[in-house]
Amino acid sequence: MRTTAVVVGAGHAGLAMSWWLAARSIDHVVLERGEVANTWRTERWASLTLLTPNWQSRLPGFGYEGGDPDGFRTLPETIAFIERYAKTVSPPLRTHCPVTSVRRSADGYEVVTAQATWHCKAVVLATGAFNVAQLPAVAAALPPGIAQLTTVQYRSPASLEKGGVMVVGAAASGVQIADEIQRSGGSVTLAVGEHVRACRTYRGRDLQWWMDATGLNDERYDQVENLRRARSLASFQLAGYADRRDVDLNALTSLGVKLTGRLAGIQNGKAQFSGSLRNLCELADLKLNRLLNVIDEWAAEHRVRGAVDPPHRPEPTRVDASPPLGLDFGRSGIRTIIWATGFRPDYSWLDLPVLDYKGNIRHDGGVVTEAPGLYVLGLPFLRRRKSSLIDGAGEDARDLSAHLVAYLGAQSTAID
Ligand SMILES: Cc1cc2nc3c(=O)[nH]c(=O)nc-3n(C[C@H](O)[C@H](O)[C@H](O)COP(=O)(O)OP(=O)(O)OC[C@H]3O[C@@H](n4cnc5c(N)ncnc54)[C@H](O)[C@@H]3O)c2cc1C
Repeated sequence: MRTTAVVVGAGHAGLAMSWWLAARSIDHVVLERGEVANTWRTERWASLTLLTPNWQSRLPGFGYEGGDPDGFRTLPETIAFIERYAKTVSPPLRTHCPVTSVRRSADGYEVVTAQATWHCKAVVLATGAFNVAQLPAVAAALPPGIAQLTTVQYRSPASLEKGGVMVVGAAASGVQIADEIQRSGGSVTLAVGEHVRACRTYRGRDLQWWMDATGLNDERYDQVENLRRARSLASFQLAGYADRRDVDLNALTSLGVKLTGRLAGIQNGKAQFSGSLRNLCELADLKLNRLLNVIDEWAAEHRVRGAVDPPHRPEPTRVDASPPLGLDFGRSGIRTIIWATGFRPDYSWLDLPVLDYKGNIRHDGGVVTEAPGLYVLGLPFLRRRKSSLIDGAGEDARDLSAHLVAYLGAQSTAID
């Protein structure tokens, strides 16, 4: 089969790319291993709500038109939203079509699926950033009898073994799951590493409103000081609940969640925690305050419509004078560990020498320069701070589709 471009993946990013390719009259096909929005259907817990408000899921040709722009979509609503977007884009889509290999050919690429091999000039990888849960090496040393699962496998408090739960990792997924289990009557210990503290609202506005208005979400990959670090930062400690409550460490300790430092080791049935909890919390407080300073400066410079409360600072994170450095799994009653320690993309099916030693793709703002005609979408800080959010896919797809068109043009000129 021949086409000009193959897009792999029909999440919102692949669909946004299809919209732009169609707008630029590029013949293409979208190949999806499952259904549209497959990741949301198969890899998320039941109660998940988006942490971005409804107005913020803007996609090319598609905005929010409902009556609750400041609300947060539930998981079924998110799936329905992406399905509606697919209907709007109406892409040339093949579902249940896993791509098993992408390799070079004489005049471009071969994209292999069980049904057919596609020959094309360009390939866009829109297969997501969060495919494989990253477990720390200590996971291998867990004593028998302790159930362990990742955030991809977690579904609800009711699906857990009876007994205490240790959540490892305090980014968005970890704090949301800790909040849910503790509120359901569970007993949660949260092992906290480096984290990014956030507040749901500030001065009467949603934090994402400020991130959008100040331009912080639009900050470009070629403007940021330390791109490697920016790309590896944990997600904000945020949740999208109707009561707009915070899920930072103070909110969790008020519920009764016990905090420890980073899980550093497991030996003879005992967990060992690093002693850096206080420092990490101070650092996170400092960074949140810096972000709020930027917001205040921007608010002072610009006319902000509507009432905006005066500046204020959140209470510093409360940390016990001497948080525990060890914990005996047997005595503590902990029966389950949930690893909320991040993800990495899965490119095991990519037969091209474009991965670094960690399995990450080498790219320049989504352009894989070592493989001309190959592009990637949807990764953290790909081209902008918002790149891995639904809201970021449209502009990234616009830029990369323009690059793709220029590449095809240069190729045909070279052949002429
Ligand atoms: C827990 C969690 C919560 C999030 N919350 C928010 C939020 O509140 N707001 C927000 O804006 N963003 C959020 N995100 C980030 C982001 O929007 C999602 O990760 C989103 O799913 C990424 O979209 P995508 O299209 O890039 O990738 P995905 O939605 O993961 O889509 C990739 C598609 O590629 C397919 N695929 C993969 N490999 C192959 C293959 N070999 N062959 C064919 N098809 C393949 C998959 O089946 C999938 O359908 C969240 C992410 C996570 C993990």
